[in-house]
Amino acid sequence: MTGKTHAAVGICGAAFLLVPKVDIKTALVGLGFCIIGSYATDADLKVSKAGHVFSDAIYAGVILTALYLILTLKMHYNVSALVGKDMPSQLKITGALLIVGSIIIGRITGHRKYMHSLIGFFVMNLGVGLIAGSFVIWFGLGYALHMIVDLLNEKPEALLFPLNAGDICFHVASSDGILNWVLVAGGYVGFIYKITSIYNLSYLHSIFIR
Ligand SMILES: [Zn+2]
Repeated sequence: MTGKTHAAVGICGAAFLLVPKVDIKTALVGLGFCIIGSYATDADLKVSKAGHVFSDAIYAGVILTALYLILTLKMHYNVSALVGKDMPSQLKITGALLIVGSIIIGRITGHRKYMHSLIGFFVMNLGVGLIAGSFVIWFGLGYALHMIVDLLNEKPEALLFPLNAGDICFHVASSDGILNWVLVAGGYVGFIYKITSIYNLSYLHSIFIR
């Protein structure tokens, strides 16, 4: 599955499970974390081995930049002051080390090994939680949905890494096959449906367009 598929599924899940519980500014920051989480699982991919990683990185960068600009310029929201404002700097450094360490281990052990395992999930979320506080819930949702969607794929996921016993996949979809596009389309349709049922259209228009 490509990063775009994971991002679509991630924001759809967040729209149904998390967006209804918070105000719109928190939701926008949270969706940013959800997108980062949905991409982070594949930080074990080597760019040279997967041509789509580069275009995925640009795609994610554009969306995250747009979210940031809307929040700061249009909504006058101080994103960096809000994210992890209660976390002491020692904990943030520890969190950053856990994340960097995880990505290094993920790249050494290979694609769909450590980063796609339960222990990788736990350590990455611990790291993000130490930096971003409660926004880790959004990150974790994106990360978890990525691992679930990858199970549909043909390449086994080492869920119980370092044990081989947990290597599973359901062989129902190739990464660029029809189910991939169903997930992308379904993700965006579900997201837009849920968002427009939470906020009315003229309100969204006043924030994003006008
Ligand atoms: Zn993956």
